[in-house]
Amino acid sequence: MVLVILKGTVIREKLHAVDSVVNIVVDGSYIATIQGAAMKALVLEEKGKLSLRDIALNQTMGPNDVRIAIHTVGICGSDVHYYTHGGIGPFIVKEPMVLGHEASGTITALGEKVKHLRLGDRVCMEPGVPDPNSRASKLGLYNVDPAVSFWATPPIHGCLMPAVTHPAAYTFKIPDNISFAEAAMVEPLAVGVQAAQKALIKPGDVAVVLGAGPIGMMVALAALASGCSRVIISDVAQPKLDIIGNYAGIETVNIRNKKLAEYVAETTDGWGADVVFEASGVPAAIRDVANLVCPGGTCVMVGMPVEPVALDLVGLQVKEATLKTVFRYANVYDRAINLMASGKIDLKPLISETFSFADSIAAFERAAEGRPTDVKLQIRVG
Ligand SMILES: [Zn+2]
Repeated sequence: MVLVILKGTVIREKLHAVDSVVNIVVDGSYIATIQGAAMKALVLEEKGKLSLRDIALNQTMGPNDVRIAIHTVGICGSDVHYYTHGGIGPFIVKEPMVLGHEASGTITALGEKVKHLRLGDRVCMEPGVPDPNSRASKLGLYNVDPAVSFWATPPIHGCLMPAVTHPAAYTFKIPDNISFAEAAMVEPLAVGVQAAQKALIKPGDVAVVLGAGPIGMMVALAALASGCSRVIISDVAQPKLDIIGNYAGIETVNIRNKKLAEYVAETTDGWGADVVFEASGVPAAIRDVANLVCPGGTCVMVGMPVEPVALDLVGLQVKEATLKTVFRYANVYDRAINLMASGKIDLKPLISETFSFADSIAAFERAAEGRPTDVKLQIRVG
Protein backbone atom coordinates (compact mmCIF):
# COMPACT_ATOMS: atom_id res chain seq x y z
CA MET A 1 0.00 0.00 0.00
CA VAL A 2 1.22 3.49 -0.80
CA LEU A 3 0.19 6.25 1.54
CA VAL A 4 0.53 9.80 0.26
CA ILE A 5 -0.39 12.59 2.60
CA LEU A 6 -0.33 16.22 1.59
CA LYS A 7 -0.09 18.75 4.39
CA GLY A 8 -1.52 16.37 6.95
CA THR A 9 -0.65 14.09 9.78
CA VAL A 10 -0.88 10.44 10.47
CA ILE A 11 -2.00 9.71 14.01
CA ARG A 12 -0.72 6.31 14.88
CA GLU A 13 -2.49 5.28 18.03
CA LYS A 14 0.06 3.21 19.87
CA LEU A 15 -2.11 1.22 22.18
CA HIS A 16 -0.27 -1.04 24.57
CA ALA A 17 1.80 -3.66 22.83
CA VAL A 18 0.23 -3.40 19.43
CA ASP A 19 -0.40 -0.66 16.94
CA SER A 20 -4.07 -1.17 16.35
CA VAL A 21 -5.32 1.66 14.24
CA VAL A 22 -3.83 4.30 12.00
CA ASN A 23 -6.00 7.37 11.51
CA ILE A 24 -5.18 9.79 8.69
CA VAL A 25 -5.96 13.36 9.58
CA VAL A 26 -5.47 16.23 7.14
CA ASP A 27 -5.65 19.79 8.49
CA GLY A 28 -7.44 18.49 11.60
CA SER A 29 -10.07 16.64 9.60
CA TYR A 30 -10.31 12.92 9.71
CA ILE A 31 -9.89 11.24 6.33
CA ALA A 32 -9.60 7.53 6.89
CA THR A 33 -8.67 4.72 9.22
CA ILE A 34 -6.36 1.91 8.35
CA GLN A 35 -7.04 -1.12 10.46
CA GLY A 36 -3.96 -2.50 12.07
CA ALA A 37 -3.69 -5.65 14.08
CA ALA A 38 -5.63 -5.69 17.29
CA MET A 39 -6.23 -3.70 20.43
CA LYS A 40 -6.04 -4.78 24.04
CA ALA A 41 -9.53 -5.02 25.56
CA LEU A 42 -11.34 -6.58 28.50
CA VAL A 43 -13.02 -9.55 26.85
CA LEU A 44 -15.72 -11.76 28.33
CA GLU A 45 -14.76 -15.04 26.64
CA GLU A 46 -17.75 -16.92 28.03
CA LYS A 47 -19.70 -17.02 31.29
CA GLY A 48 -17.25 -16.66 34.20
CA LYS A 49 -14.14 -16.16 32.04
CA LEU A 50 -12.55 -12.78 31.46
CA SER A 51 -9.30 -11.94 29.75
CA LEU A 52 -7.41 -8.79 29.02
CA ARG A 53 -6.16 -9.54 25.54
CA ASP A 54 -5.76 -8.30 22.00
CA ILE A 55 -8.89 -8.45 19.91
CA ALA A 56 -9.33 -7.40 16.28
CA LEU A 57 -12.33 -5.14 15.86
CA ASN A 58 -13.74 -3.24 12.94
CA GLN A 59 -13.64 0.37 14.04
CA THR A 60 -13.71 2.09 10.67
CA MET A 61 -14.90 5.67 10.90
CA GLY A 62 -17.64 7.21 8.82
CA PRO A 63 -18.06 10.94 8.08
CA ASN A 64 -20.43 11.40 11.07
CA ASP A 65 -18.25 9.49 13.54
CA VAL A 66 -15.60 10.49 16.04
CA ARG A 67 -12.63 8.61 17.40
CA ILE A 68 -12.31 8.67 21.18
CA ALA A 69 -9.41 7.76 23.44
CA ILE A 70 -11.17 6.12 26.39
CA HIS A 71 -10.28 7.51 29.82
CA THR A 72 -12.64 5.95 32.39
CA VAL A 73 -15.22 3.15 32.22
CA GLY A 74 -17.67 2.38 35.02
CA ILE A 75 -18.66 -1.21 35.79
CA CYS A 76 -22.41 -1.68 35.49
CA GLY A 77 -24.60 -4.36 37.03
CA SER A 78 -25.29 -5.61 33.52
CA ASP A 79 -21.56 -6.10 32.81
CA VAL A 80 -21.26 -8.11 36.01
CA HIS A 81 -24.36 -10.13 35.19
CA TYR A 82 -22.98 -11.09 31.78
CA TYR A 83 -19.78 -12.14 33.54
CA THR A 84 -21.46 -14.20 36.26
CA HIS A 85 -24.51 -15.54 34.36
CA GLY A 86 -23.51 -15.39 30.67
CA GLY A 87 -26.67 -13.56 29.65
CA ILE A 88 -29.56 -11.28 30.55
CA GLY A 89 -32.99 -12.36 29.31
CA PRO A 90 -32.81 -12.89 25.56
CA PHE A 91 -29.24 -11.52 25.34
CA ILE A 92 -26.88 -14.47 25.59
CA VAL A 93 -23.09 -14.28 25.32
CA LYS A 94 -22.30 -16.73 22.51
CA GLU A 95 -19.00 -15.27 21.35
CA PRO A 96 -16.22 -13.34 23.07
CA MET A 97 -17.47 -9.81 23.83
CA VAL A 98 -15.72 -6.68 25.06
CA LEU A 99 -17.46 -5.43 28.23
CA GLY A 100 -18.21 -1.87 29.41
CA HIS A 101 -20.65 0.83 28.36
CA GLU A 102 -20.28 3.70 30.88
CA ALA A 103 -17.43 5.68 29.41
CA SER A 104 -15.71 9.02 29.08
CA GLY A 105 -12.72 10.06 27.01
CA THR A 106 -11.10 12.53 24.63
CA ILE A 107 -11.76 13.14 20.93
CA THR A 108 -8.75 12.18 18.82
CA ALA A 109 -10.24 12.33 15.31
CA LEU A 110 -13.34 13.81 13.69
CA GLY A 111 -15.36 12.64 10.73
CA GLU A 112 -15.57 15.27 7.99
CA LYS A 113 -19.25 16.07 8.68
CA VAL A 114 -18.91 16.44 12.46
CA LYS A 115 -19.64 20.01 13.50
CA HIS A 116 -20.32 20.12 17.26
CA LEU A 117 -17.11 18.55 18.53
CA ARG A 118 -13.42 19.45 18.28
CA LEU A 119 -10.17 17.51 18.59
CA GLY A 120 -9.24 17.31 22.26
CA ASP A 121 -12.80 17.73 23.56
CA ARG A 122 -13.53 15.81 26.76
CA VAL A 123 -16.65 13.73 26.16
CA CYS A 124 -18.96 11.00 27.37
CA MET A 125 -20.89 8.68 25.11
CA GLU A 126 -24.37 7.24 24.92
CA PRO A 127 -23.75 3.52 24.48
CA GLY A 128 -26.94 2.85 22.54
CA VAL A 129 -27.05 3.79 18.87
CA PRO A 130 -30.40 3.27 17.14
CA ASP A 131 -31.24 2.96 13.48
CA PRO A 132 -31.99 6.60 12.62
CA ASN A 133 -34.60 5.52 10.06
CA SER A 134 -36.57 3.28 12.39
CA ARG A 135 -40.14 4.09 13.38
CA ALA A 136 -39.11 4.31 17.06
CA SER A 137 -36.30 6.74 16.27
CA LYS A 138 -38.58 8.95 14.21
CA LEU A 139 -40.94 9.15 17.19
CA GLY A 140 -38.09 10.11 19.56
CA LEU A 141 -38.31 6.73 21.30
CA TYR A 142 -34.93 5.58 20.08
CA ASN A 143 -34.22 3.69 23.33
CA VAL A 144 -36.91 1.16 22.38
CA ASP A 145 -35.80 0.83 18.75
CA PRO A 146 -35.58 -2.95 18.23
CA ALA A 147 -32.55 -2.32 16.00
CA VAL A 148 -30.58 -0.35 18.64
CA SER A 149 -26.97 -1.46 18.99
CA PHE A 150 -25.89 -1.04 22.60
CA TRP A 151 -22.33 -1.44 23.88
CA ALA A 152 -21.69 -4.70 25.73
CA THR A 153 -25.09 -6.18 24.92
CA PRO A 154 -24.47 -9.36 22.90
CA PRO A 155 -23.43 -9.48 20.15
CA ILE A 156 -22.24 -5.83 20.29
CA HIS A 157 -18.80 -5.15 21.78
CA GLY A 158 -18.43 -2.69 24.65
CA CYS A 159 -15.83 0.01 25.24
CA LEU A 160 -13.36 -1.37 27.80
CA MET A 161 -10.42 -0.70 25.52
CA PRO A 162 -8.12 2.21 24.76
CA ALA A 163 -10.04 3.69 21.81
CA VAL A 164 -13.43 3.50 20.15
CA THR A 165 -15.21 4.88 17.10
CA HIS A 166 -18.65 6.28 17.86
CA PRO A 167 -21.33 8.41 16.16
CA ALA A 168 -20.79 12.07 17.02
CA ALA A 169 -24.56 12.45 17.56
CA TYR A 170 -24.26 10.18 20.61
CA THR A 171 -21.09 11.82 21.91
CA PHE A 172 -21.41 14.72 24.38
CA LYS A 173 -18.86 17.35 25.34
CA ILE A 174 -18.44 17.70 29.09
CA PRO A 175 -17.60 20.99 30.83
CA ASP A 176 -14.29 21.52 32.64
CA ASN A 177 -15.84 21.15 36.10
CA ILE A 178 -16.86 17.55 35.45
CA SER A 179 -14.04 15.02 35.84
CA PHE A 180 -13.62 12.02 33.53
CA ALA A 181 -14.69 9.79 36.44
CA GLU A 182 -17.91 11.77 36.92
CA ALA A 183 -18.50 11.86 33.17
CA ALA A 184 -18.46 8.06 33.13
CA MET A 185 -21.39 8.28 35.62
CA VAL A 186 -23.60 10.20 33.16
CA GLU A 187 -24.81 6.90 31.70
CA PRO A 188 -26.39 5.53 34.90
CA LEU A 189 -27.58 9.03 35.86
CA ALA A 190 -29.39 9.20 32.52
CA VAL A 191 -31.60 6.33 33.70
CA GLY A 192 -32.50 8.38 36.78
CA VAL A 193 -33.23 11.46 34.70
CA GLN A 194 -35.38 9.40 32.32
CA ALA A 195 -37.36 8.06 35.31
CA ALA A 196 -37.79 11.53 36.84
CA GLN A 197 -38.92 12.90 33.50
CA LYS A 198 -41.45 10.08 33.07
CA ALA A 199 -42.83 10.78 36.56
CA LEU A 200 -43.74 14.36 35.59
CA ILE A 201 -42.58 15.50 39.04
CA LYS A 202 -44.27 18.65 40.37
CA PRO A 203 -42.61 21.09 42.81
CA GLY A 204 -42.72 19.73 46.33
CA ASP A 205 -43.67 16.16 45.42
CA VAL A 206 -42.86 13.38 47.87
CA ALA A 207 -41.14 10.45 46.17
CA VAL A 208 -40.31 6.92 47.25
CA VAL A 209 -37.52 4.89 45.67
CA LEU A 210 -37.46 1.13 46.29
CA GLY A 211 -33.91 -0.19 46.14
CA ALA A 212 -30.68 1.66 46.94
CA GLY A 213 -28.49 0.09 44.27
CA PRO A 214 -26.61 2.43 41.93
CA ILE A 215 -29.70 2.98 39.76
CA GLY A 216 -31.97 3.57 42.78
CA MET A 217 -29.48 6.17 43.99
CA MET A 218 -29.42 7.87 40.58
CA VAL A 219 -33.22 7.92 40.51
CA ALA A 220 -33.36 9.41 44.02
CA LEU A 221 -30.88 12.19 43.14
CA ALA A 222 -32.62 12.95 39.85
CA ALA A 223 -36.02 13.09 41.62
CA LEU A 224 -34.63 15.49 44.21
CA ALA A 225 -33.03 17.69 41.55
CA SER A 226 -36.30 17.66 39.61
CA GLY A 227 -38.22 19.36 42.43
CA CYS A 228 -39.19 16.72 44.99
CA SER A 229 -39.27 18.05 48.54
CA ARG A 230 -38.52 14.66 50.05
CA VAL A 231 -37.19 11.41 48.64
CA ILE A 232 -37.58 8.29 50.78
CA ILE A 233 -35.34 5.39 49.70
CA SER A 234 -35.51 1.83 51.01
CA ASP A 235 -33.22 -1.18 51.00
CA VAL A 236 -32.11 -4.05 53.21
CA ALA A 237 -28.41 -3.10 53.08
CA GLN A 238 -27.62 -0.45 55.70
CA PRO A 239 -24.25 0.59 54.17
CA LYS A 240 -26.00 1.55 50.92
CA LEU A 241 -28.62 3.54 52.83
CA ASP A 242 -25.88 5.28 54.82
CA ILE A 243 -24.18 6.41 51.59
CA ILE A 244 -27.29 7.81 49.91
CA GLY A 245 -28.67 9.10 53.23
CA ASN A 246 -25.75 11.54 53.36
CA TYR A 247 -27.45 13.65 50.69
CA ALA A 248 -29.70 16.39 52.12
CA GLY A 249 -33.37 15.77 51.31
CA ILE A 250 -33.03 11.98 51.19
CA GLU A 251 -34.55 9.84 53.95
CA THR A 252 -33.71 6.18 54.30
CA VAL A 253 -35.76 3.23 55.50
CA ASN A 254 -34.14 -0.12 56.23
CA ILE A 255 -37.00 -2.51 55.54
CA ARG A 256 -35.41 -5.09 57.86
CA ASN A 257 -36.37 -2.79 60.75
CA LYS A 258 -39.41 -0.90 59.52
CA LYS A 259 -42.25 -1.43 57.03
CA LEU A 260 -41.84 1.08 54.21
CA ALA A 261 -45.61 1.53 53.78
CA GLU A 262 -45.90 2.41 57.47
CA TYR A 263 -43.14 5.00 57.25
CA VAL A 264 -44.66 6.57 54.15
CA ALA A 265 -48.15 6.66 55.73
CA GLU A 266 -46.80 8.14 58.98
CA THR A 267 -44.93 10.92 57.22
CA THR A 268 -47.63 11.82 54.65
CA ASP A 269 -50.71 11.97 56.91
CA GLY A 270 -51.73 8.59 55.56
CA TRP A 271 -51.96 9.94 52.01
CA GLY A 272 -49.02 8.20 50.31
CA ALA A 273 -46.24 9.34 48.00
CA ASP A 274 -46.89 11.37 44.86
CA VAL A 275 -44.36 9.30 42.94
CA VAL A 276 -43.07 5.79 43.58
CA PHE A 277 -40.00 4.59 41.70
CA GLU A 278 -39.42 0.83 41.76
CA ALA A 279 -35.68 0.33 41.30
CA SER A 280 -35.03 -3.04 42.92
CA GLY A 281 -36.67 -5.52 40.53
CA VAL A 282 -37.63 -7.55 43.61
CA PRO A 283 -41.13 -9.15 43.30
CA ALA A 284 -42.20 -8.21 46.88
CA ALA A 285 -41.22 -4.58 46.26
CA ILE A 286 -43.09 -4.49 42.96
CA ARG A 287 -46.23 -5.79 44.71
CA ASP A 288 -45.82 -3.07 47.37
CA VAL A 289 -45.95 -0.02 45.06
CA ALA A 290 -49.76 0.13 45.30
CA ASN A 291 -49.47 0.51 49.10
CA LEU A 292 -47.06 3.41 48.80
CA VAL A 293 -48.50 5.62 46.07
CA CYS A 294 -51.09 8.32 46.85
CA PRO A 295 -54.48 8.52 45.11
CA GLY A 296 -53.87 9.84 41.62
CA GLY A 297 -50.12 9.28 42.01
CA THR A 298 -47.60 7.75 39.62
CA CYS A 299 -45.52 4.58 39.83
CA VAL A 300 -42.46 4.36 37.59
CA MET A 301 -41.02 0.89 37.13
CA VAL A 302 -37.25 1.02 36.62
CA GLY A 303 -35.97 -2.26 38.13
CA MET A 304 -36.14 -5.33 35.90
CA PRO A 305 -37.25 -8.56 37.59
CA VAL A 306 -35.70 -11.74 36.23
CA GLU A 307 -39.09 -13.49 35.86
CA PRO A 308 -42.62 -12.18 35.22
CA VAL A 309 -44.01 -10.92 38.57
CA ALA A 310 -47.35 -10.24 40.24
CA LEU A 311 -48.69 -6.70 40.46
CA ASP A 312 -51.44 -5.44 42.81
CA LEU A 313 -53.58 -4.11 39.99
CA VAL A 314 -56.70 -3.47 42.07
CA GLY A 315 -54.57 -1.65 44.65
CA LEU A 316 -53.48 0.68 41.83
CA GLN A 317 -56.96 0.92 40.30
CA VAL A 318 -58.73 2.04 43.48
CA LYS A 319 -56.25 4.94 43.60
CA GLU A 320 -56.39 5.56 39.86
CA ALA A 321 -52.62 5.46 39.97
CA THR A 322 -50.62 5.79 36.76
CA LEU A 323 -48.10 3.07 35.99
CA LYS A 324 -45.15 3.89 33.76
CA THR A 325 -42.10 1.95 32.68
CA VAL A 326 -38.52 2.92 31.91
CA PHE A 327 -36.04 1.23 29.60
CA ARG A 328 -32.67 2.97 29.45
CA TYR A 329 -33.16 6.59 28.26
CA ALA A 330 -33.60 8.84 25.25
CA ASN A 331 -32.64 12.49 24.81
CA VAL A 332 -31.57 13.06 28.43
CA TYR A 333 -27.75 13.02 28.33
CA ASP A 334 -27.56 16.80 27.97
CA ARG A 335 -29.93 17.21 30.94
CA ALA A 336 -27.90 14.82 33.09
CA ILE A 337 -24.67 16.67 32.20
CA ASN A 338 -26.29 20.04 32.98
CA LEU A 339 -27.48 18.82 36.40
CA MET A 340 -23.94 17.72 37.23
CA ALA A 341 -22.28 20.84 35.83
CA SER A 342 -24.60 23.11 37.81
CA GLY A 343 -23.78 21.29 41.05
CA LYS A 344 -27.36 20.14 41.57
CA ILE A 345 -26.19 16.55 41.39
CA ASP A 346 -22.80 15.54 42.82
CA LEU A 347 -21.92 11.95 41.98
CA LYS A 348 -18.37 12.00 43.36
CA PRO A 349 -19.38 10.35 46.68
CA LEU A 350 -20.75 7.38 44.73
CA ILE A 351 -17.45 6.45 43.08
CA SER A 352 -16.21 3.78 45.48
CA GLU A 353 -12.92 2.73 43.92
CA THR A 354 -10.93 3.10 40.72
CA PHE A 355 -8.86 0.27 39.21
CA SER A 356 -6.15 0.47 36.55
CA PHE A 357 -6.85 -1.07 33.13
CA ALA A 358 -4.29 -3.78 33.93
CA ASP A 359 -6.40 -4.68 37.00
CA SER A 360 -9.68 -4.88 35.07
CA ILE A 361 -10.29 -8.52 35.91
CA ALA A 362 -9.73 -7.86 39.62
CA ALA A 363 -12.18 -4.97 39.32
CA PHE A 364 -14.82 -7.32 37.93
CA GLU A 365 -14.15 -9.92 40.62
CA ARG A 366 -14.63 -7.20 43.21
CA ALA A 367 -17.85 -6.07 41.52
CA ALA A 368 -19.11 -9.66 41.47
CA GLU A 369 -18.61 -9.81 45.26
CA GLY A 370 -21.37 -7.24 45.51
CA ARG A 371 -20.03 -5.52 48.61
CA PRO A 372 -22.77 -3.35 50.17
CA THR A 373 -20.23 -0.54 50.65
CA ASP A 374 -19.49 -0.38 46.89
CA VAL A 375 -21.68 1.84 44.73
CA LYS A 376 -19.69 2.39 41.54
CA LEU A 377 -16.40 0.77 40.67
CA GLN A 378 -14.52 2.27 37.75
CA ILE A 379 -11.62 1.32 35.53
CA ARG A 380 -9.18 3.97 34.37
CA VAL A 381 -8.18 2.97 30.87
CA GLY A 382 -6.26 6.01 29.65
ZN1 LIG B 1 -24.94 0.97 32.99
